[in-house]
Amino acid sequence: MDLDRRYWIDQDGITAYPETPKLWCSKEGKPLDLDLSFHPVKQTILSGPSDFRRYIPFVGLENPENFISLGEPITPLIPVQVDDKELLVKQDFLFPTGSYKDRGAAVMMNRAKEMGVKKVIQDSSGNAGCSVAAYAAAMGIACDIFVPASTSPAKLIQIEMYGARLIKIKGSREDTAAAAREAADRGEYYASHCFNPYFYQGTKTFAYELCDQLGWNAPDKVVLPLGNGTLVMGCWIGFSELKEAGVIQKIPQIIGVQASSCAPLFSKWKTRKGDVFQEPVFQATLAEGIAIGDPVRGEQLISVIDRTNGSILAVSEQEISDAFHFFRHRGFYPEITSCAALAGALRVLRESGPDESVCTLITGSGLKSTDKYLSFLKQ
Ligand SMILES: *Cc1c(COP(=O)(O)O)cnc(C)c1O
Repeated sequence: MDLDRRYWIDQDGITAYPETPKLWCSKEGKPLDLDLSFHPVKQTILSGPSDFRRYIPFVGLENPENFISLGEPITPLIPVQVDDKELLVKQDFLFPTGSYKDRGAAVMMNRAKEMGVKKVIQDSSGNAGCSVAAYAAAMGIACDIFVPASTSPAKLIQIEMYGARLIKIKGSREDTAAAAREAADRGEYYASHCFNPYFYQGTKTFAYELCDQLGWNAPDKVVLPLGNGTLVMGCWIGFSELKEAGVIQKIPQIIGVQASSCAPLFSKWKTRKGDVFQEPVFQATLAEGIAIGDPVRGEQLISVIDRTNGSILAVSEQEISDAFHFFRHRGFYPEITSCAALAGALRVLRESGPDESVCTLITGSGLKSTDKYLSFLKQ
């Protein structure tokens, strides 16, 4: 593919911007999408390596054969018995840094490497920060992670261990994001999981992989976490491309799950449907990894969920901890944030017909929640 002819496009699909390492948003500061779509070929995938790299010919890298890998696996798809039904659960905590964010970071950072980027910046004190820091280390790219000065040291250890530099910003999470965006405006490569469209080329592999594992069939419903919606966007792109290429016959319903304590998209979606409901008040939640007050792709997320005939759910703190207990008693050890989507999936499965297939994932490893689980033990 020729770099000169690559464009990112705004969400009205009107203004196109030539891709450069400095490009990160539209003139209005809005996220952009890749102005390319891919035609997945079953044969190419099936004859590729038996890991994540089999999807890499279709994610927009110029030289997929040079892909730098940390050994990303095909994550197992495990059926979990729930009453008289089965929930299909992908084990995405098995990625190299302990969360599915590696899907996005692997592709985004390989693209950065291809463009000759020497340094990236990112603002996340959580799993996205870990993933970007790990791939930066693997590629010899310098990495600055902007974090709120108040972030607990425990959350930052893994990022620092990969050798990333932490830039601590006083004030709120928004102040940290603003500092990162200022650096991006000064020309630093913004390896953002919210803005950078290559991140979504990476998360779309979740959809490819799931259909691959189901013998090139799509399930009826896919239940995903919904904070910034990196999996929701990725799955929309992935399932649409598979459908367009005739590889699958239908796009599954995408069901996005928010925590009731921080549910801005649930609230917008409900209001637009004309439902009367109690406006949620923002509070602290166990699922802090998806507690995003104003997701930058909010409108886009609602629209893709609607296009799949899907829905948005909000789960209570009780449901989140119940889901954790349900899964740990069956030998799984999800990160507490992951339990929001799991709680949503349990609810969706219970409300689904006997012939409907419902799939979800464990997004992160419980080893990341050791401090939280310590407090569970003390209760
Ligand atoms: C990032 C993340 C999510 C949700 O992702 P969004 O892209 O914000 O919707 C869910 N679980 C874990 C463990 C995460 O790190």
